[in-house]
Parts: sequence; C-alpha cells; structure tokens
Amino acid sequence: MTDSTVVFVNSGQPPPPYIAQPVAPPVAVVMTGPVGSEPIIMACPSCRHQIATRVERAASSKTHIIACLLCLFVCWPCVCVPYCVDSCNNANHYCPNCNAYIGSYNF
Ligand SMILES: [Zn+2]
Repeated sequence: MTDSTVVFVNSGQPPPPYIAQPVAPPVAVVMTGPVGSEPIIMACPSCRHQIATRVERAASSKTHIIACLLCLFVCWPCVCVPYCVDSCNNANHYCPNCNAYIGSYNF
C-alpha cells in the first residue's frame, strides 16, 4: 500500500523569478551575400533595380601594415604597391542607381 498523496515541499526558498527575456523584433534582413573586391551584379535591396555595384576602394589598416613591411624589408618605392592592388584594399559596394550602401569587402 503506497501513499499516493503528492506533497509539495516548500523548503522556504521562493521559486526562481520568471525573467522575461526581451524578445528582439524580427528584423527584415536583406541577404546580400558576401561581396568581393570586384563589382557584382545583383538586385539592389533598396531600389530593387538590377545593378552592378559601384566599388569604392579604401585602404585598411592591413594595407598600411603591408606598406610599412614593404618599406622596411623590401624597398621604399614598394610602399605604393598595396595601395594600388585592388585586393589589398577594402571595397565598399554602393548602388549606382540610388547610392544605397550594399556591403563591404574587408581585406
Ligand atoms: Zn539601389
């Protein structure tokens, strides 16, 4: 014969408070995909036109580091090389139609 009475044990500790986690509202994420250092053909997420992105190069800190290394270990005229090589610079992609920022390629 078993005692089937369910006993709620109150050990004196309050139940853990229910903490409402702030739920982030769903954000419409435009998946542009990774962009490279070259212009890409895509549908602009802003104006929805089929565009070839306009790329603006910008030297990154890595570009400066490479330039310094070239200057120190190779020869100083090589300093300008990484700034001239497209793949050694960041590339910011913009829509040529509406100038919306598309994405960046970070060297
Ligand atoms: Zn656009």
